[in-house]
Amino acid sequence: MRFKGSTIFVTGGAGFIGSAVVRHLLRDSHARVVNIDKLTYAANLDSLPAAKENLNYAFEKQCICDGAGLRRLFEKYQPDAVMNLAAESHVDRSIDGPGEFIQTNIVGTFTILQETLRHWRTLSPEKRAGFRFLHISTDEVFGSLGDEGFFTETTAYSPNSPYSASKASSDHLVRAWRETYDLPTLITNCSNNYGPYHFPEKLIPHMIIKGLAGEPLPVYGDGKNIRDWLYVEDHAKALTLVLEHGAVGETYNVGGRNERTNLHVVETICDLLDQIAPRAQGARRDLITFVADRPGHDRRYAIDASKLERDLGWRAEENFETGIAKTVHWYIDQQPWWRGILERGYQAKRVGLSLSATAH
Ligand code: NAD
Repeated sequence: MRFKGSTIFVTGGAGFIGSAVVRHLLRDSHARVVNIDKLTYAANLDSLPAAKENLNYAFEKQCICDGAGLRRLFEKYQPDAVMNLAAESHVDRSIDGPGEFIQTNIVGTFTILQETLRHWRTLSPEKRAGFRFLHISTDEVFGSLGDEGFFTETTAYSPNSPYSASKASSDHLVRAWRETYDLPTLITNCSNNYGPYHFPEKLIPHMIIKGLAGEPLPVYGDGKNIRDWLYVEDHAKALTLVLEHGAVGETYNVGGRNERTNLHVVETICDLLDQIAPRAQGARRDLITFVADRPGHDRRYAIDASKLERDLGWRAEENFETGIAKTVHWYIDQQPWWRGILERGYQAKRVGLSLSATAH
């Protein structure tokens, strides 16, 4: 009876990974889930199609930087756990406008830590012992790898973008709240996710949507930057496993052992689209164009997830080939979901060339 009788706050539950966590908890556990989300441009409640009717689900429109608002929610719901996914998450946007990243990722994490601590201190000793604060972070805090090696839980932090620096700061705050105040916190650092309900600005959905439209497919730099791709549902399962069985104070790396160059990712999408929806004008690989690189573009990320596999028995169920095929099929079948975002005014234009970094 997983999480029977437990109330779990999921911040950022209308985002890409947060919505996968909410769907997974509602489908595969007995938890009562409260989705706390400010509903930024990246949010979409359509990513939770079955949640509204579920009696175990509640939604609260709330910014994590607003302590008084959070306090009301802690008092109202008396949660047993917090999974903190709310964040500004797009590296390119952080280059042009770092201010929001500092606010939500650092000040927001600080604020929810303070309100969690306040709530935790009101609990009975038994409830306090069972309480968990799980902070969801990224492998980008570790910086860039050379051709060899992997990020482990003991790799030194060396963030290179405003996004990764803000996430690194938030990780340090979470760790400090454990060391200083005994708040039962855990941290996960995950590699690049992909899969259903991914906002169209990110590499994989962007390429699928452009490829379907027969438009140029812009690859940054030489396309040889390497990311370690993880299917989002595997990530959601890892997070609930860490919440349930992870050791307090520990950090767990999450990754799928699926290193691919960006160019390989785009070529794979082209080939899948050609198979599923052939185009009269020819192969989609012809649409690939190389464009100016992202400033400070990390060369390679790769995660060693053996601690999570060994200690908690987690295994990624999808490899890159199975996951990307599922994802391409999903974007072809679920066009109303992403067309709705385009119709609300999202324009897939290039950002993050550091031309306007002082604007915000
Ligand atoms: P996302 O951008 O898709 O979603 C973020 C959600 O947070 C949105 O629903 C947004 O409305 C909400 N939000 C933003 N600011 C808020 C605020 N101030 N108060 C309340 N809600 C707010 O992001 P994602 O890709 O789902 O990432 C979720 C978390 O996982 C982030 O913390 C991110 O750093 C981390 N992460 C992401 C990846 C990845 O590949 N996407 C990999 C590793 C870790």
